[in-house]
Amino acid sequence: MFNETDDHQEIRDAVRGLCKQFPDEYFRKIDEQKAYPEKFVDALMQAGWLAAMIPEEYGGTGLGLTAASVIMEEINRSGGNAGAVHGQMYNMGTLLRNGSKAQKDKYLPDIAAGRLRIQSMAVTEPTTGTDTTKIKTTAVKKDGRYVVNGQKVWISRVQHSDLMILLARTTPLAEVKKKSEGMSIFIVDLHHAVGNGLTVRPIPNLVNHETNELFFENLEIPEENLIGEEGRGFKYILDGLNAERTLIAAECIGDGYWFIERARNYANERVVFDRPIGKNQGVQFPIADAFIEIEAANLMRFEAARRFDAHKDCGAQANMAKYLAAKASWEAANVCMQTHGGFGFANEYDIERKFRETRLYQVAPISTNLIYAYVAEHVLGLPRSF
Ligand SMILES: Cc1cc2nc3c(=O)[nH]c(=O)nc-3n(C[C@H](O)[C@H](O)[C@H](O)COP(=O)(O)OP(=O)(O)OC[C@H]3O[C@@H](n4cnc5c(N)ncnc54)[C@H](O)[C@@H]3O)c2cc1C
Repeated sequence: MFNETDDHQEIRDAVRGLCKQFPDEYFRKIDEQKAYPEKFVDALMQAGWLAAMIPEEYGGTGLGLTAASVIMEEINRSGGNAGAVHGQMYNMGTLLRNGSKAQKDKYLPDIAAGRLRIQSMAVTEPTTGTDTTKIKTTAVKKDGRYVVNGQKVWISRVQHSDLMILLARTTPLAEVKKKSEGMSIFIVDLHHAVGNGLTVRPIPNLVNHETNELFFENLEIPEENLIGEEGRGFKYILDGLNAERTLIAAECIGDGYWFIERARNYANERVVFDRPIGKNQGVQFPIADAFIEIEAANLMRFEAARRFDAHKDCGAQANMAKYLAAKASWEAANVCMQTHGGFGFANEYDIERKFRETRLYQVAPISTNLIYAYVAEHVLGLPRSF
């Protein structure tokens, strides 16, 4: 029904085919049990879909961000939740862009083959939140190792990952010229770290999303696990955000189409007052409105992905795509819920589950206000507000 004219139909068909093996009942049960969709993730990895952004020389498929975003969209559009896996798609980018040859040779082929999971990235801290340059987690170099102390919060998929990218301060804030300097990123081997200086405490939350508090107490990381140059970690993290935002925009687009389709079908089928409820303009117009918003957001998502793949600056487009798509999917979620009346609340319709899931993306991985601030400052040239 929608956007069938783009040239990724083969990818769409193949991912939809895989997702068909994991129907609504599968994700509903996983949600009820607060479990991780292990079989689904394995199937995606075995099929190579999560290696779309890894170049062929490292065993990936080198398809690029546009195709990768189609894969993520199709997962959510099929009723699943790519939040369980999207880290695998983009976290490796930090390594790919900034890692040494030795690091890339060591990790990327295994990541591409699905033997190593790099699902986690640890940036956010409880006391500093969005004000990332004030992070308090430190990594101090000592005898060929870095010793890490501090705390992180909301770090996702740690329990289902082998590797984690960690941002920590290596030079105190008081000693750097610019506050964005003096932070570094590391590859953390989670199998070694947990229990040896890293404690993981799960955070029960609104969605079935595995996310955690992390406590670092003298965690030792080998010097060779530093990615790129010491002190430039914040810049490396920022460089990776455009891919993350575009992929999450695509997931929201997938959610949006899922909600619209369910709302349309129900509005056609449900008969009240001797006619389908969709015959009432009070029911059909909000569905049309939400659909228009999704279609518009989708154009910005493809524009962001196109620019990224063409190696053009895409910060504004990626941020705007994430903003528009998260807003549109939330509107579609509300419309779908309203169209279903009381049945929208029943677990067996899956609407309340997807409703909760899509709400996250106005907060994480960047909140809406921070996108306004980005556009105001970097696109419109308004004064920096913080
Ligand atoms: C389920 C989940 C998974 C997550 N996964 C990860 C992960 O894997 N790794 C990771 O590092 N982080 C992760 N996060 C953290 C997420 O990126 C942050 O929650 C998000 O960036 C907002 O930060 P905060 O929660 O500290 O909010 P705060 O920074 O405390 O902000 C609170 C509110 O105030 C607003 N605000 C703050 N400052 C300003 C300002 N100057 N102007 C206007 N408004 C402002 C914000 O927009 C927000 O709405 C996750 C979060 C959730 C909920």
